[in-house]
Amino acid sequence: MADSSSAAPPWRFWRWKLHWQILLGMVLGILIGYSMARWAIATGGVRGASNVLEHNWLRLLCKTGGEMFLNALKLIVIPLVTSSITLAISVIASRQGFARLGTKSLVYFLSTTLLAVLLGLAFVNWIQPGFTGAEPLLTQEKAKQIQETFAVESQRLAASAALHDERSGETLFAKVLGVFKSLVPANPVKAAADMDLLGLIVIALFFGYFMSRLAGPVRETLQNFWQGVNDISLMFTQFVLQLAPLGIAMLLAHTIMDNYVSLAAEDRVADLVGALWKFGLTAAVALAIHLFVVLPLIFYTITGIGPQRLFKALMPALFTAFSTSSSNATLSVTIDCVEKNAGVSRQTAGFVLPLGATVNMNGTALYECVAAMFIVQLFGYQLDFAAQFLVVLIALLTSIGVAGVPSASLVAIIIILNSVSKQLGPGIDLTAGLAILMILDRPLDMFRTAVNVFGDAVGAILIAKTENEPLFQKSP
Ligand code: ASP
Repeated sequence: MADSSSAAPPWRFWRWKLHWQILLGMVLGILIGYSMARWAIATGGVRGASNVLEHNWLRLLCKTGGEMFLNALKLIVIPLVTSSITLAISVIASRQGFARLGTKSLVYFLSTTLLAVLLGLAFVNWIQPGFTGAEPLLTQEKAKQIQETFAVESQRLAASAALHDERSGETLFAKVLGVFKSLVPANPVKAAADMDLLGLIVIALFFGYFMSRLAGPVRETLQNFWQGVNDISLMFTQFVLQLAPLGIAMLLAHTIMDNYVSLAAEDRVADLVGALWKFGLTAAVALAIHLFVVLPLIFYTITGIGPQRLFKALMPALFTAFSTSSSNATLSVTIDCVEKNAGVSRQTAGFVLPLGATVNMNGTALYECVAAMFIVQLFGYQLDFAAQFLVVLIALLTSIGVAGVPSASLVAIIIILNSVSKQLGPGIDLTAGLAILMILDRPLDMFRTAVNVFGDAVGAILIAKTENEPLFQKSP
């Protein structure tokens, strides 16, 4: 008879807390995706399974629903990033705290990313997933064969690699200058349309700074305008979050059925499968240690707050990152969790998180290092200290430039492999082995994106702590 929400029976999942609803969506999505893939393989065989699925109504439904959810998350990114940074800077600049916050963020980003890369390097050297026998598992010819198996993906990557190759003749100094040049986009509208977040952040930084120098009603009007954009972006995030359990279920169902079917078709690389699983496990365990041990330890040391509260507060952001494989798409949810559940001020969250989603990628840097070293091992090479140092350095630097979108780190891995190939000698092209990484890319992308987002959120909370903001006042 009693019908209060606290007495609601447990099967009323729509009354559950959001993160449990999202978890339910994830479990259902995985089950549907897996069952559909098994059914397609049983109906059309391993080779014909993707044809069976291609026009299947349930797959199309999940694909469309998942893409709509992703689009809804992405469309908030530009207004959210511009308004958050502009507002944060306009307030911070008038308080003279801008340089302090910026320095703290950079120190945190660089030190945790370096820790992540070193952790990855230690693991890949210890487990050595790419060495399984006396003979190297990969030769240039075999790598070419695998590239042909993954023709479509390889072509897409080759285009990015060609772009990089055009610049590979440049000196290191010219490359560094090129990075600085990309910080100043010529057209703000184009930067927004291209989702060039780094360029956009720089524009917003200046806009916010000069806004703080304005006086009177002009400044007030601008401030109110950006405040409105920011409020509406966050309201929209809240709305999209209500749909997250369904969106995530559809997104995962589609991702899993497609990836399972193409994975099952890869028996041609059977002799590499053992090494590949070992590699996947190495990367996953190292990522898990960074997520569950390293970052919580840093968090506990600085705040004295139990990490379980941290995980509880950030759960929706972690699940969204895992399901979308995109830090950018998750940004609005991260901001929401950090402000509402952890109590970080809008200024700090609005400054640290958009910057973090763009330049701070702990998971990506760790993965780049493990993946590049794995390919090197597959070809049978041992790298000396200097060459490994080069890998660490490039992983650190490229992770800053990697966009927060799915599979973005593959291009960064090309850059590392190119540099290592040159070190090893003429005629050696390690990038040919890249195709093998595509087999496990999606699941590992889910893990590394979750680590990326977690790293940003922990950074925002720690920086808020050092700014004496009251944290975790209410239970999430
Ligand atoms: N998917 C990652 C992210 O959005 C980037 C990557 O490592 O590919 O954070």
